[in-house]
Amino acid sequence: MPVAGRPDVPADPVPFGLFVLKVASRCNLNCDYCYMYNKADSSWRNKPAIMSEETFDATLLRIRRHCAATGQRSVRLAFHGGEPTMVGPARFDAWCTRARSMLADVEDVGLGIQTNGTRIDAVWAEVFARNDVRVGVSVDGVRDEHDRHRVDHRGRGSYDSIVRGLGELGAAGVTWGVLSVIEPGRDPLSTHRHIAGLGADFVNYLWPDHTHDTIAGVRARFGRTPVADYLIPLFDQWLESGGAGPHVPEFWNVARLVLGGRSAHENYGNEPSRYVFVETDGAIEGLDVLRICGEGMGHTGLDVLSSDFAELAASGSLSAAIIMRGLPLPSGCASCVERTTCAGGYVPHRYSRAHGFDSPSVWCADILELFAHARARMGVTAAETARRRDERARRIAAVARG
Ligand code: SF4
Repeated sequence: MPVAGRPDVPADPVPFGLFVLKVASRCNLNCDYCYMYNKADSSWRNKPAIMSEETFDATLLRIRRHCAATGQRSVRLAFHGGEPTMVGPARFDAWCTRARSMLADVEDVGLGIQTNGTRIDAVWAEVFARNDVRVGVSVDGVRDEHDRHRVDHRGRGSYDSIVRGLGELGAAGVTWGVLSVIEPGRDPLSTHRHIAGLGADFVNYLWPDHTHDTIAGVRARFGRTPVADYLIPLFDQWLESGGAGPHVPEFWNVARLVLGGRSAHENYGNEPSRYVFVETDGAIEGLDVLRICGEGMGHTGLDVLSSDFAELAASGSLSAAIIMRGLPLPSGCASCVERTTCAGGYVPHRYSRAHGFDSPSVWCADILELFAHARARMGVTAAETARRRDERARRIAAVARG
């Protein structure tokens, strides 16, 4: 299909490492904390339930054009939703084949899917294995913990169907990892043991999505630092075991930052995110968790049927700023000891109706506690982190000078 170009595309577009394809805008579950359906945004109601073939192909063409324009040799595509398995295994299989063939000029193409796991059967597992798809499944903990929140539209828990699906993945030789939303007050070590025992290759612990307008109830119930209280015992176990067990990106990232490196995850660092979302109708959008802040926060006004991804830079949208540059440091972070490591925290968690994104993270006290603990355990002061960062910057500058 033809893809129109526009004359205002920047001459030197920057690479995007990841394109998140929201191939389904509905879900068979109705998790109570879901940022897509149960927070401040309802734009999903006006989207097609499933991405059309035309939109999918237009997305691939735009990605191909973007990779050619930037010269990038590596790209990741993540199938996301809603629940992406709602497209069905045959269509998903065909889309994976098309993605690999249309992006054949890109040396390294990685495919992934983030699914609630309830619909995975032997057919799906075989499709994932054959297309070399990296699978992320949402598992919050043991059955009771998981089923407290991750329920279907009739309120029934999803744990048993997920565990069945994980068995199918294992039987097909598919490597999979877990997204687990932190629930304050729970025993983190037993939850982690359970997830590791299921066979997860990695565990991404997700901080609960709140803004300054919604956090009061959590604080009243669980105290000042409920997420740090959850993560610190896990960090200690991770450190003492030398990182044994499932890979935990959160802790590698904290350790990397404390040791003077750059953040590899948007939880910290306020780096340009350099990844974009494509909705089922082809809309190009920014970070989808911005939905917790208000209606349409991630909109860019662009879509894959008429726009190149490079046009984002000139869109003037909030998402463009987050993707291309990172937002200004919140004024309340200016004198913080972790201003160069945390740098304000995850953007949606900075939001309040009163101050927009100009506030420290709603999890600020937790971040300070976690970093202070990591520093004490690793024997690295903030001054040492700063010295290492300066040294790294000098070495990078020297390499750039040749
Ligand atoms: S720890 Fe708090 S004050 Fe410090 S940079 Fe992070 S959000 Fe800002």
